[in-house]
Amino acid sequence: MRWSQAFIPTLKEDPADAEVASHRLMVRAGLLRPVARGIYTYLPLMQRVLLKVQRIVREELDRIGAVELVMPILSPAELWRETGRWDLYGDLMMRLEDRHDRAYALGPTHEEVITDLARQEVRSYRDLPVNLYQIQTKFRDEIRPRFGVMRAREFVMKDGYSFHADAASLAETYDAYVEAYGRIFERCGLGFRAVEASSGAIGGDENHEFMVLADTGESLVLSCGACGYAASEERAEGVPAAHDLPPGHAPNPLEEVHTPERKTVEDVAALLERDHRSFVKTLLFDADGTTTAALVRGDREINEEKLKRHLGVQRVEMASPERVREITGAAVGYAGPHTLPDDVRIVADYSLAGRGDLVAGANRTDWHVTGLEIGRDVEPDEWADLMTIVGGDPCPRCGAALEETRGIEVGHVFKLGAKYSAAMGATFQDEDGEQRPFLMGCYGLGVTRVVAAAIEQNHDEGGIAWPVPIAPYEVELIPLNMDSPEVVETAERLYESCRAVGLEALLDDRPDRAGSKFADADLIGIPWRIVIGDRGLADGVVEAAPREAKADVEKLPPDEAAALVRERIEARRR
Ligand code: ATP
Ligand code: MG
Repeated sequence: MRWSQAFIPTLKEDPADAEVASHRLMVRAGLLRPVARGIYTYLPLMQRVLLKVQRIVREELDRIGAVELVMPILSPAELWRETGRWDLYGDLMMRLEDRHDRAYALGPTHEEVITDLARQEVRSYRDLPVNLYQIQTKFRDEIRPRFGVMRAREFVMKDGYSFHADAASLAETYDAYVEAYGRIFERCGLGFRAVEASSGAIGGDENHEFMVLADTGESLVLSCGACGYAASEERAEGVPAAHDLPPGHAPNPLEEVHTPERKTVEDVAALLERDHRSFVKTLLFDADGTTTAALVRGDREINEEKLKRHLGVQRVEMASPERVREITGAAVGYAGPHTLPDDVRIVADYSLAGRGDLVAGANRTDWHVTGLEIGRDVEPDEWADLMTIVGGDPCPRCGAALEETRGIEVGHVFKLGAKYSAAMGATFQDEDGEQRPFLMGCYGLGVTRVVAAAIEQNHDEGGIAWPVPIAPYEVELIPLNMDSPEVVETAERLYESCRAVGLEALLDDRPDRAGSKFADADLIGIPWRIVIGDRGLADGVVEAAPREAKADVEKLPPDEAAALVRERIEARRR
């Protein structure tokens, strides 16, 4: 391809709204242009990268026997109502109505559509397992679209779904996907880690997230250097503890203290000169029509994902200020566990175990209590692991200190079990002639997000440095002086010889200054470059160098350059 025809609109300036390197570079290098918030045109360079990522995905999924199909982007509300997700998905789902006022979703994911297909087409255990995937545009009306295609409202996902007669078959396919994902991300040049994860709105049991470690990642990963335990923040477990008070603990009486205008642990702690650890945070949540008071030590946070799992519900919401007043009789900020109505379920996090003489809200505006004793003043309905784990907390497997790193979630695999098939009546006939719901797995991979993640991990101050397997071109030819017939002619010859040896070449045939061609070459990050200039040609040579080590220049006759680059690329692949 010639640059003059390639439509690569590079920019000298950073876009104003780009917070992370990949977003900044994707706009500047002419890969992306915004159309609306979180919605982008994928320019020609981006399309080439996307096709390469998709090709790798297809090759690796082929290898594990998954087959490609395409489901529609639009799906009718009725299907989503069968599983309750028409409501559960909330504002994240983009919706529209047709001319007959029938409601549709712009697919954020496709469990319902594929389960509907399976219940119609797959009848017997003899037809199982079935392993299908698609690569398709997805829509999610994210609260905070940002970081370019990392968190977009329209993006490309590979979503796979498998159907099984039994758990062993599901486990086999699940494991095959985990391995295929590893190969895919490796081939895309990504350093990654598979971690135990929360299943979010999709539900089910076992699941793993694939995290690309990067400082700009939106997810937190807690990992143990000693035993290899790794989990996402939503999943990372605390260590259960018994509620035994330290020996010699002498309880104080429960007393109300006046704390006007002081609602946060921080404010009250300052006023009373008490440590945050001696506070009980009482947070009220509505879940499935009942109210739960979640208690955690004053210096820690409640993790809503863990609370959801503990309660066995799909959604929890912080109680509204009106609801808080109804329950506690006080404004927000003064809730305490000891005088709550009986129908409020009280769940205490293990962080409170073994602590007495606590400070809590008094369920009275502008008042707190001191001397609160769990067991004497309040009896939790349950103890549970609810708090957000942070770096330095003990590993739940071996007790060593956990390390906290940031990650970009590029893939997520779940064992769904019978969650969707049971809800939708998707059954097959088993060997004994009984009807049973399919066991399902689902396997997501963010194709556009992979491209952003690859740039996060492969760039320098000058621009992108593509890993060869997903680079838009493999080699860029840079004739330094387009007014020199010898330079132009050599570049053209080289361009032909690149084709002849099967190299994807981009010829920068623009009449621009050498400096600006080099700057653009750094920016768009083609892995190899061959520079053709009058001075070199006077000595009978051109200069070849890799993008990632520009100083490693090899001078060689023009006729040998294409073969050399080909050989270097092959050598890396082996
Ligand atoms: P996240 O926690 O980042 O919102 P998710 O748990 O909602 O992700 P899944 O529903 O498992 O994601 O979707 C599968 C994959 O699709 C994710 O692993 C991610 O790579 C990608 N993905 C999800 N949401 C977006 C988005 N808004 N923009 C780009 N890619 C996305
Ligand atoms: Mg999401």
